[in-house]
Amino acid sequence: MKSEYFKDLKIHNSISGKKEFFIPIDKNNVGMYVCGPTVYNNAHLGNCRTFISFDLIYRYISHLGYKVRYVRNLTDVGHLENEDNSGEDKVSKKARLEKIEPMEVVQRYTLDFHSILKKLNTIPPNIEPTASGHIIEQIDSIKQIIESGYGYEKNGSVYFDILKFNKSNTYGKLSGRKIEEMMNQSRELDGISDKKNPQDFALWKKAEKNHIMFWNSPWSKGFPGWHLECTSMSKKYLGNFFDIHGGGIDLKFPHHDCEIAQSEAIDGNNPAKYWMHTNMLTLNGKKMSKSIENFILPNEVFKGSNKILSKAFSPNVVKFFIYQAHYRSVLDLSNDALIASEKGFNKLISGYKLISKLICNEKNSDFDVNIWISNCYSKMNDDFNTPMLIAEMFDCIKFINNVNINSKNLNINDREKLLNTFGDFLFHILGFKDEEIISNKNDLSDELINLLVKLRNQARVNKNFEISDQIRNDLLGLGVKLNDDKNDSSYNLI
Ligand code: AMP
Ligand code: ZN
Repeated sequence: MKSEYFKDLKIHNSISGKKEFFIPIDKNNVGMYVCGPTVYNNAHLGNCRTFISFDLIYRYISHLGYKVRYVRNLTDVGHLENEDNSGEDKVSKKARLEKIEPMEVVQRYTLDFHSILKKLNTIPPNIEPTASGHIIEQIDSIKQIIESGYGYEKNGSVYFDILKFNKSNTYGKLSGRKIEEMMNQSRELDGISDKKNPQDFALWKKAEKNHIMFWNSPWSKGFPGWHLECTSMSKKYLGNFFDIHGGGIDLKFPHHDCEIAQSEAIDGNNPAKYWMHTNMLTLNGKKMSKSIENFILPNEVFKGSNKILSKAFSPNVVKFFIYQAHYRSVLDLSNDALIASEKGFNKLISGYKLISKLICNEKNSDFDVNIWISNCYSKMNDDFNTPMLIAEMFDCIKFINNVNINSKNLNINDREKLLNTFGDFLFHILGFKDEEIISNKNDLSDELINLLVKLRNQARVNKNFEISDQIRNDLLGLGVKLNDDKNDSSYNLI
């Protein structure tokens, strides 16, 4: 059954550059395709930001009552090392350097990717197709593109004819790039002489002598171009026209513009009604990226084992940090930002835990719970605005504290509504892991630890270092690690 709020959802569509009401193609079922990782190394926290954002989108649309088929691929062949998709295949290169099979590379990093996303409590997609598992479908797509007149073969490779396509269609719809600009910017690269024009992109590449991943095709022993897999696999599992296509903003061009061109060449459809793009996680003000050695791995954050971090942060805190920015804004990672997120997250959870203990009376509540609930939904309906949702939740915590401390009125029905809605947003929509919240610390131990921290702070102020060290060491022996600030300490369980 649909939630009463489903009609109000608006999504920012990258194609129109506007927020549009979400009206799915089928009124009950939603198809969503998200470009997945290239599994040739460990996913960094920037990659995770994108997948956490689409997890939130998947969770929320499902929560509104739609049945969602979520498809997220794994790129295990065809993604070449340079940005313009030239050079060596990323998976092959890793296999060559490590002297292992390409599929060993794929297996290792697929397992790592899944384990990280599990720690971050994201829901697996309904289908997770691989490029190497869909070679037949990709060969079929190439045949269709050649038949429609937009693909041509040269020396065993097949290319997409951008100039011809652009005569009757528009290439670059998403990124807004003009073909003339692209012509000026194209560099002369490997194999480029086979192309009619440097901006044409490969649909199929003939394998060079040393290339270790290749398949038979009507044109040569070779492998598919990167852009093609998403076209073939989204068509197979979601049809020629589906609801949402997503990925990071860096995929708008060329990847998604090429996908649109391929799809229009095959059946005339821009494949998705809504195109969604997440903005980048940055580190030191620059895009988090492996290729420029500017990244941090999720496990380093969970263990506190990177030199930029003063301590470990839990997956829930990492998610809270990510949700504090809207998915279309740039977000910069730093130790200070994570410390602030940890405080914010703990405050949110303490507030939630207090709700069931609040003392109720028969009077009208001093807080309009129905309006608060509808505000929470309207923030999410405004293109999944998590920072505004979190602000609403903190507003509610102010009231919760007021009931607790200043005996403000709350009736029992409202308390139940608060508890349910708060829990829905925390666990079902934002997807925080409840075991971490419940199992790591029960309320009493939390309070007792805080009491010891308070006593230790007094000892520190009085320069009684013997006592303060003893408390710290004894807590450490119990698995509670204190992290000292100037006047206060936070703790984490180890
Ligand atoms: P890749 O494995 O490089 O194809 O990236 C997988 C996904 O992560 C794509 O949707 C990228 O757009 C996204 N991504 C890559 N770097 C970042 C970043 N720094 N911040 C957010 N998303 C990113
Ligand atoms: Zn893709």
